[in-house]
Amino acid sequence: GARPGGLYSPGDPLVLLQVDTLESSVLNSSSAWLVEFYASWCGHCVHFAPTWRALAADIQEWSPAVNLGVLDCADIANQKMCGKFGITGFPTLKFFKAFSKSPEDGIKIFHPGDSIQKLRQSIITNLEMHKETWPPACPPLEPASVEEIRGFFQTNNVTYLALIFETNDSFLGREVTLDMLQFENIAVRRVLSSEEELVKKYGVTSFPSSFLLIKNGTFSRIPVQMEARSFYTHFLRRLPGVMRGPYAPIRAPDISKVYMADLESALHYALRVEVARFSVLTGERVRALKDFVAVLAKYFPGRPFVRNFLRSVDRWLRNARESRIPYSGLELVLTGRKESPSALPALVTWVGCQGSEPHFRGYPCSLWTLFHLLTVQGGPDHSPLEVLGAMRGYVQSFFGCRECAQHFEGMAAESMDKVRSVDEAALWLWSRHNRVNARLAGTETEDPQFPKLQWPPPELCPLCHSVVNRRHVWDKAAVLRFLKAHFSPANIFLDYTE
Ligand code: FAD
Repeated sequence: GARPGGLYSPGDPLVLLQVDTLESSVLNSSSAWLVEFYASWCGHCVHFAPTWRALAADIQEWSPAVNLGVLDCADIANQKMCGKFGITGFPTLKFFKAFSKSPEDGIKIFHPGDSIQKLRQSIITNLEMHKETWPPACPPLEPASVEEIRGFFQTNNVTYLALIFETNDSFLGREVTLDMLQFENIAVRRVLSSEEELVKKYGVTSFPSSFLLIKNGTFSRIPVQMEARSFYTHFLRRLPGVMRGPYAPIRAPDISKVYMADLESALHYALRVEVARFSVLTGERVRALKDFVAVLAKYFPGRPFVRNFLRSVDRWLRNARESRIPYSGLELVLTGRKESPSALPALVTWVGCQGSEPHFRGYPCSLWTLFHLLTVQGGPDHSPLEVLGAMRGYVQSFFGCRECAQHFEGMAAESMDKVRSVDEAALWLWSRHNRVNARLAGTETEDPQFPKLQWPPPELCPLCHSVVNRRHVWDKAAVLRFLKAHFSPANIFLDYTE
């Protein structure tokens, strides 16, 4: 949270960065970032703060294509970090393209007085400078061509396409495109006034103006009082069937649910980020990956195309007889080709695992969830150590948190081999996870909004808890029943926008 004296507070719609979160947030991120490095004692910064706050509110819905952050360089704890990022005066605005690698990749943005509009346009211009590392959540911003519009509904699974006709120097179309990125079932494209064929086809006579195309082939002028951003955005957001999609931030997930978005994001991150750190897999890692994918192919209760995908990866790995697998080979199978893109999302979306700040929860939360889920899918005749063994191997070989991996391996070496049945496997993982929760409660890795509890808490499972001789005891039979119900396919929610 904010330190005393900072110019921004947690209620502002921007990310309060600190020495320990700046790099992990802005580097290697699938979002672009614009960060204000300020000093709370600097008069210019005080004067500029309302502008920055208003800009944050204005483009809040452009996340996760681009996020806004602030860092107080007057905070002693942050001073070294500000030096590392080359900050010499205040305020300094730096734009980090998605997947920026180092502090030097920050691009200094000229700050044009107090104009929110100029800042917004500068963000767009910088977004457009992305080449091969286009932020996955950012819709195309370049002007649409006749060909693109002609085949649009064949290649895009949406009901609506809004076309904003405008002159080359206008930012309106791109602003509305970004305003709508969190919404599903609609796309927005700008069309330049010089695109004569389209201008003629729709009978456009004034710029800007805008047309709504519907999948069924009809089109009409968008009826607005003024040809302006807020009028367009307001109109488009209220079209029937247009709703917030997976990029929409979720404020309070329901803790009694398991979300498919978390599970698919775990698969994406595990296979395409964690494993990808090794350019060649050999020995133990080959074995660990094969076991992990085999268990996923067998037990992951995913959507049909995700299951097919997992089975095909499994088949590919089983056919790969060599003891060395270059990741580049695997990548083709995991990422898919242009004609048949992968079934997995190309970026992570956390719902049940969404932290109150970017450095909390996320991937480790989803990995626990995934493995708990897998432990309860097997029937009584399945091998008791199949899932646990695969988890142990994956964590040992690939889990990027090496300290976590060591701790987990310690617990596994101590007692995993005593597990005798599939039910005991589910309970083993549950009780070890609670040990980890107990160890981490109150430490800096705990998200203040999601305190580490012994799980499931009484409000989720009253029957799991009882008191004997005035001491709390778990009713293990009730816990097992609860695990099986909680992590059953029927409790996995696909639609996380409700
Ligand atoms: P998590 O602990 O990640 O839990 C995710 C979800 O699982 C919860 O929201 C809840 O719905 C459910 N859940 C919670 N407890 C249980 C349970 N007992 N049984 C079944 N379901 C449960 N971090 C460290 O700082 N140090 C470590 O040594 C460490 N070791 C780790 C080892 C492993 C194998 C993993 C996967 C993670 C480890 N982590 C460690 C990360 C840490 O455990 C958390 O994942 C992270 O702090 C995020 O916490 P969270 O609040 O999202 O809940």
